[in-house]
Amino acid sequence: MKFHQMDWQQRLATLAATTKLTASEQALFTTNYSAINEQMIENYVTSFPLPEGILPNIVINERTYQVPMVTEEPSVIAAASNGARMINMGGGLTATNVSREMIGQVLINEADFAAVTTLVAEQAPYLIEIGNAAHPSMAQRGGGLKHIATRDLGDGFVSVDLHIDTQAAMGANVVNTISEAVASYIKTQQVGNVVMAILSNLATTSLVTAKVALPFKAVAKAGFEAADIAQRIVLANQFSQRDAYRATTENKGVMNGIDAVVMASGNDWRAISAGIHAYAARDGQYRNLVTWSHDATTLYGEITVPMPVGVVGGSIGIVPLVQANHKLLAVESAGELAQVIAAVGLAQNLSALRALVTSGIQAGHMQLQLKSLALAVGATITEVPILVTRLQQMPHADMQTARQLLTEMRE
Ligand code: NDP
Repeated sequence: MKFHQMDWQQRLATLAATTKLTASEQALFTTNYSAINEQMIENYVTSFPLPEGILPNIVINERTYQVPMVTEEPSVIAAASNGARMINMGGGLTATNVSREMIGQVLINEADFAAVTTLVAEQAPYLIEIGNAAHPSMAQRGGGLKHIATRDLGDGFVSVDLHIDTQAAMGANVVNTISEAVASYIKTQQVGNVVMAILSNLATTSLVTAKVALPFKAVAKAGFEAADIAQRIVLANQFSQRDAYRATTENKGVMNGIDAVVMASGNDWRAISAGIHAYAARDGQYRNLVTWSHDATTLYGEITVPMPVGVVGGSIGIVPLVQANHKLLAVESAGELAQVIAAVGLAQNLSALRALVTSGIQAGHMQLQLKSLALAVGATITEVPILVTRLQQMPHADMQTARQLLTEMRE
């Protein structure tokens, strides 16, 4: 029998028989079994738990949110919370959805661009009708295929871009259904070779912007001049405008926050990450997502990112914890969820840059990594706080030191 034809227990028995899993390791697979998750993917064996924490207060458009975040990385939630604390001192963020549409592509080669453009111009209402007939419920709720554009990709390659309003959903499946229906019709029109139809994850028509204006005192830190910190944050940020090496790392920090909320909200973090990184390179140079500037008294931060998240669809309505997270967040629309996620990215960035231009990233970071270090060398839950305290007193808190201290503790 093939692996995918086996039931869950047969799969586990096969793994036990063909691998070196111990009995207690095998037990992990049964302990974390979920009947719902078994229905969600293929070849299911277990559920992979990750930690979830809360960013307790972030003020966006004068509303205070409790934001669930899923991450395995120590210091992400602490940094986001610290960033939010500073942001709240400036009265919080303002966030707006610049637009909210998905793009489906019908991709054609050996095409005459003028002929494709003429076809779209002359038959747009009919193409829109065909698209919406493929998923009528979306049009009925006010969404669906709205307008169509063409892009010349050169050498006979053409993209027909379908702009689709997916309402409260991220809409990947809806967009793919509509795109395939339109592609089937275009195939009959002899304007080229229709190769495929699929959504684009470069969601430049689902942009969200979050902004903050902070009095310098909001970024104050003992031992440093607040105005100097603000100026150095702006300076640090300028490196990421110029250098992809630095921008990638700065954006990774932003994504620490963004991905954690995207995951907690049951959205597709691969889709969001792919879109955001491509957007960061939209003018050919990979740059930072956040920009900082200042005047004589105030530090200004701004983030704009594509954020086509949903509050329905995909796994959102299926996973009970995701539904509980939506209740915690209490957002009323997909656009509002996108605003919260962008805001957390900005908070994350503020916290990271402030640390970088003052005491350095490791000072706060390593304190929070020590628990993970203690667990990594095999400390039990009761041993962890004792080992962390001892590690804090050491000049170098590395694995070898942790192992040695743990051995001494147990002697
Ligand atoms: P679904 O296929 O679940 O479609 C959304 C569903 O939500 C529809 O069935 C729709 O119902 C329902 N719905 C109920 N109320 C609303 C409302 N107010 N507004 C909009 N929809 C509503 O999910 P998506 O199409 O959103 O696709 C997301 C999933 O696709 C994710 O799981 C993602 O991982 C996956 N995916 C991603 C790809 C990518 O990013 N490249 C590619 C392929 C899949 P109704 O049918 O009545 O309209």
